[in-house]
Amino acid sequence: MRIRVGHLYPEYLNIYADRGNIAVLAERARVRGHELEIAPIGLGGALSGTAIDLFYIGGGQDREQALVANDLVTKASALREAADGGAPVLGVCGGYQLLGRSYRDTSGVELPGIGLLPLRTVAGERRMIGDVLLDCVWAGETLAGFENHAGRTLLDAGAEPLGRVIAGFGNDGASGFEGCRAGRVYGTYLHGPLLPRNPWLADRLLEEALEHAGGGLVELAPLPDELEHRAHEVSAARARARGGRS
Ligand code: GLN
Repeated sequence: MRIRVGHLYPEYLNIYADRGNIAVLAERARVRGHELEIAPIGLGGALSGTAIDLFYIGGGQDREQALVANDLVTKASALREAADGGAPVLGVCGGYQLLGRSYRDTSGVELPGIGLLPLRTVAGERRMIGDVLLDCVWAGETLAGFENHAGRTLLDAGAEPLGRVIAGFGNDGASGFEGCRAGRVYGTYLHGPLLPRNPWLADRLLEEALEHAGGGLVELAPLPDELEHRAHEVSAARARARGGRS
């Protein structure tokens, strides 16, 4: 099948090789006989929520976020329509923050978000930098990655985090939560990029996207993933040894 991926603002939000997440999705789809059609979505222009099976928005600094935030607001209803229709949405770091209601940046400027995730973010003085390891109880899996953010993300009461922090700072360095998950909308601070060392999440996103593309309920055949699991282990060990301590 053909999976249509909408990559939001690739020219602005692509810090720490976040673009690598798209490469992982493309390759894992290809070896299962599917094809990823990647549509870069930039500033301006209309967006159709139904023509895309998976949306992705990466991380960036405050400056880049300020450049795209108002444009993203014009695309909010299309994104909401897509999410309501079962298309998965993944936001990383700066992109994650903009999926929430608002981000108050390091200079005190309040950027609008699109409220797809029940949270808001306020920048603090000390950056939270280092390796992270999460327990995603809902999936029976762990996620490993690297975080570097000034933003403290505060989940609304009752909101579901993406995972519980085993090691690292997570959303705010205090709650023990990292990321957020609402239906098929996923947000996280994890870079590195996220998907090469966490292939289970890549496959989950692909299965959801394939379902949206009309493939019915899909269960992708597992791949050997030896290198991926080794990368996960290295990253997890680094987080356990020194995460959350910058
Ligand atoms: N500007 C945001 C922060 O520092 C996001 C940074 C990022 O995407 N790495 O909180």
